[in-house]
Amino acid sequence: MSAFSAARRAEVTTRAGFRCEYCHLPTRGPVATFPIDHVIPKAAGGSNEPSNLALTCPHCDSHKWAAALGPDPESGEPVRFFHPREDVWDEHFA
Ligand SMILES: [Zn+2]
Repeated sequence: MSAFSAARRAEVTTRAGFRCEYCHLPTRGPVATFPIDHVIPKAAGGSNEPSNLALTCPHCDSHKWAAALGPDPESGEPVRFFHPREDVWDEHFA
């Protein structure tokens, strides 16, 4: 069951350009419904405000889940996940 209203889901989905805000996978295709992610997890004090919500494909959602940090693929050191409102995609994933 979604924690978000249909209006909020439509707002987040449209703002995202109908694609995952982390990997840019389009919503059209084999996956019918993308989850809405809390960029800053609720457990870490993140809000339900639109500025803290991101459209997320199931793959990215399962990897990020309720974390704000993940291991750097090269160093293994904890690094902050991409933030769709604060980071530039091409720079973050360069
Ligand atoms: Zn994704």
